[in-house]
Amino acid sequence: MNSQLRLLQPTKPRLGLYLRPGRNDHTVFTALLAEGRAVSGLVLDARNLERHRQLRENLIGNGVHAVLDTDFMEMSTTGGTVLAGLDTFPWRRFAQATASQLRGQAGRDLAATVADSVATLDFSAVLAPTHLLADARDPFFGADRTVTAYLRAELDRRGHLDTPVFYPLAIPAASLRDPTQLALILDGLRSLDLDAVWLRLHPFGATAGPLALRHYIETGWQLGQLGLPIVGEHTGTIGLALMAFGAVGGIESGITLGERFDAQALNRPRDPRGSGYIPQPRVYLHEIGAFVSRAVARRLFQNRQMIAALGCRDGSCCREGVDSMIRDPRRHFVIRRTSEVERIGGVAPDARATTYVNDVVRRGAVLSGPAARVALELVPVQRRLERWHGTLEALLRQGQRPAPIPAVGQRIRTARPKPYSVG
Ligand SMILES: [Zn+2]
Repeated sequence: MNSQLRLLQPTKPRLGLYLRPGRNDHTVFTALLAEGRAVSGLVLDARNLERHRQLRENLIGNGVHAVLDTDFMEMSTTGGTVLAGLDTFPWRRFAQATASQLRGQAGRDLAATVADSVATLDFSAVLAPTHLLADARDPFFGADRTVTAYLRAELDRRGHLDTPVFYPLAIPAASLRDPTQLALILDGLRSLDLDAVWLRLHPFGATAGPLALRHYIETGWQLGQLGLPIVGEHTGTIGLALMAFGAVGGIESGITLGERFDAQALNRPRDPRGSGYIPQPRVYLHEIGAFVSRAVARRLFQNRQMIAALGCRDGSCCREGVDSMIRDPRRHFVIRRTSEVERIGGVAPDARATTYVNDVVRRGAVLSGPAARVALELVPVQRRLERWHGTLEALLRQGQRPAPIPAVGQRIRTARPKPYSVG
């Protein structure tokens, strides 16, 4: 192991923070790992496998999980098939398999190819290759569970008994509000040997309205019946509220980008000429939980009051304050997001929601007022924070909920009823 890399062993169960480095984010992470900045894991897309090779190798033995995302969901949808870099993977040939094929030999072979890659490339956790579901009755739900059970068996057969399998559940939010469909999902997942459910609810994300936010939290509480960690994928800044309210035990996030799970984009044919476009990182205004372009950040920070109100004051994060925020927005984002999650985890579970609403959301709503007068781009942010504040306060009045199970990425070895049988 690189002597610069410190072993990151959490002293108590932490809430999970998984980050998904984009194509150009490996250097910022290599630097942060060397400083001992702790996250639960990095999710590495198959399509960037070669580019992230060094980063992946740095994670080995470092206490930070390297989670393989096979990008199978992308491969098996119309919009995802044109993404560059997906052609070379052995599981690509199963992307068009039918649900009934996947319940048979094709499913076994798919699981075996994924398990082979986990083993040979030293990944320490894996996202099961699942589909974007139309609803809970989608035939691929059954097929995905079968393949996931095969994957567990194939990992065990290779001696990877401690490698957790996370299950990406991508489904319209409305489906889980239907009690019949929710029961189907709970029954279906309860019988699987899983280590977490990664929730890709749509539509949802950083710009979620108050009703969507309320429903997400209530859905997370319902899924908590599974006794598994729930990880909110692509939830953006609002993922922190989901954690504070006990709806999820972990969040997953891109690096200043990818703040919502875009199911529509996956279902829509894409122009292949556009697939090489890499968006510029945005500047994270952590005090109000918002992202802006570098140009807007520069304009905002020409105002001294804005520097005082929204600038980074952590010298170990941004040595030169707002100049560092703008110059290296990815570093600032990762460090701030890590400390935001730690701050929620540092509060007793039954006080997290109240503390979060009062110390973060209310404060953000107040600070965003003057900011929106300096940069009009922040007007929607201010409105959103005010609406979130109202929704979350109403939820607080409903009373306490059980704490979520921290999504730190270990194998869950509880005795589970009715193990899903393979074969
Ligand atoms: Zn900073």
